[in-house]
Amino acid sequence: MFCSHCGKPIESTDEFCPHCGKSVSGATDSSTNQGMDGAEALAYTGHRLSLSKDDAWAGYRLSQQALDELESEGKGDGDAADAARKGIRNFKIQMGVAAVGFVIFGIIALSIASSHN
Ligand SMILES: [Zn+2]
Repeated sequence: MFCSHCGKPIESTDEFCPHCGKSVSGATDSSTNQGMDGAEALAYTGHRLSLSKDDAWAGYRLSQQALDELESEGKGDGDAADAARKGIRNFKIQMGVAAVGFVIFGIIALSIASSHN
């Protein structure tokens, strides 16, 4: 199915569009996030996406956007802002792990290459 707000492809199980963060109309379960405004819903969506390796970057973007909106609304101390901060942290941890792995791989590759000389 496709998001009714931005038209991008989404999973039928998504409550919120991972691309624009808006609530997906026709979602069967809307009770979990009822009473949240857009930025709060975006924060939780971003946090959830940041836990997924494939969507970490999208999660980071949504979390950052949500955090900016929440802070500008004076909600920087709320649960949603905390979720957004966790989303950003998850992304940084994943990138850090990837960077360390890359450096270690590089060192091993270099030592193998130089041992052949
Ligand atoms: Zn959308």
